[in-house]
Amino acid sequence: MNTENLQSQAASSVPSSVDVVVVGAGIVGLAHAALANERGLSVLVIERDHRAVGASIRNFGHCCITAQTGDLYELAVTGRKHWLAYSERAGFWATESGAVVVARTETELRVLQELAERREPGQIVLLSAAETSARLGRPAVGVADPTESPFVGGAWLRDDLRVDPRTTVASLAAWLDSRTDASVRWNTSALGFAAGTGRTALVRTSRGDVEADHVFVCVGHDVDLLFPEVAEGHKIQRCSLQMAAAAGPDGLDLDPAVLTATSMLRYGAFVEMPSAPDLLAEVQAQDPALLDIGANVMFTQRPDGTLLLGDSHAYQKTVEPFLVEPTTALLLDRIQEVLGVDSLDITERWQGIYASSEVGPLLIAGVAPGVTAVSVTAGIGMTVSFGLAARNISALP
Ligand SMILES: Cc1cc2nc3c(=O)[nH]c(=O)nc-3n(C[C@H](O)[C@H](O)[C@H](O)COP(=O)(O)OP(=O)(O)OC[C@H]3O[C@@H](n4cnc5c(N)ncnc54)[C@H](O)[C@@H]3O)c2cc1C
Repeated sequence: MNTENLQSQAASSVPSSVDVVVVGAGIVGLAHAALANERGLSVLVIERDHRAVGASIRNFGHCCITAQTGDLYELAVTGRKHWLAYSERAGFWATESGAVVVARTETELRVLQELAERREPGQIVLLSAAETSARLGRPAVGVADPTESPFVGGAWLRDDLRVDPRTTVASLAAWLDSRTDASVRWNTSALGFAAGTGRTALVRTSRGDVEADHVFVCVGHDVDLLFPEVAEGHKIQRCSLQMAAAAGPDGLDLDPAVLTATSMLRYGAFVEMPSAPDLLAEVQAQDPALLDIGANVMFTQRPDGTLLLGDSHAYQKTVEPFLVEPTTALLLDRIQEVLGVDSLDITERWQGIYASSEVGPLLIAGVAPGVTAVSVTAGIGMTVSFGLAARNISALP
């Protein structure tokens, strides 16, 4: 090998030793890397792709804080502070928009009332039908008469945040890479893990070996590819979701995320409410097709005006790669009803995948000395990423 080749090989290889290696440049990995670096540790992030295109860029960008419960709520609330701080530091868009949940029936409204009664005053603001329409911007798209509203009311969830999923992860990675003692190496795969000689752990990568005191493997649903037995123990499956983007109707400027009855059937805090079983029975009776596709009818608007529309849920170990048109059509129909428009101009369709488990919403497993696998095994990884990272990094010796 000539000198030039040796030099270019050295330039492309990973450093031989750092305090922390993070595998995966999705939001969970980057949050761990950012908080480890904030703690003064040297950090290397390795990402197998040339840029992150996983779950973290395919979602709604909704930090769904209010609708979490128990430990997940604690993580979400902690994460909220970090989201806002890192938006400032790394320069990505984030807004304290809250979320609006629309209620089309008295049962839906009752679930919202029940949760509002259990939370501090002001966190969940109950809305009239007209207020719900106004928060959605329906008047701006031509549905000005409140009597035309299909809602009986709604609620505004004050503490929810929104980020732009298409740009956040790239901004955070670029910012991290510009920091002293932090770097992000793209097109670099983790191939295996072993005990280190100078440090606790050794990571074999497609660009050489690196030793570290701590390794966080944040590869989302692909945890089964690296640690099949751990994934089997946690009963990990892939959840695949159909999404679409549409041009925002003229004049629509929608700040909050918008949730509906099917959202209330999926998020823990609503599911715990006394009237939740009645809500499930009602949706089963009135709109069973939504349950058949595992719908969470919701949408957000990106800063460029594009609407992100979703979503359906299907659970398999290896996902069916094909998008099912009637599923998208059904979601689109229900979203148009909520927005009060006859049609939306679809510009993109895609499939997102996240890790799912009936065992629990978080997989945190020691997989080798100094090596911890971290996957969010429910559709809330944006919401809890920074809270989870804060907990894991502060637990380091
Ligand atoms: C359609 C959809 C909508 C969603 N909506 C929301 C929402 O609004 N709010 C919310 O809180 N959550 C939402 N979620 C869930 C959330 O997006 C995920 O939980 C979260 O993004 C998972 O982040 P991650 O970093 O673990 O995974 P990913 O973003 O998938 O990142 C994992 C990374 O690891 C890399 N990798 C894998 N194997 C290796 C290897 N061997 N070596 C190196 N790199 C590797 C991959 O290339 C990938 O870039 C949604 C998910 C989907 C799919």
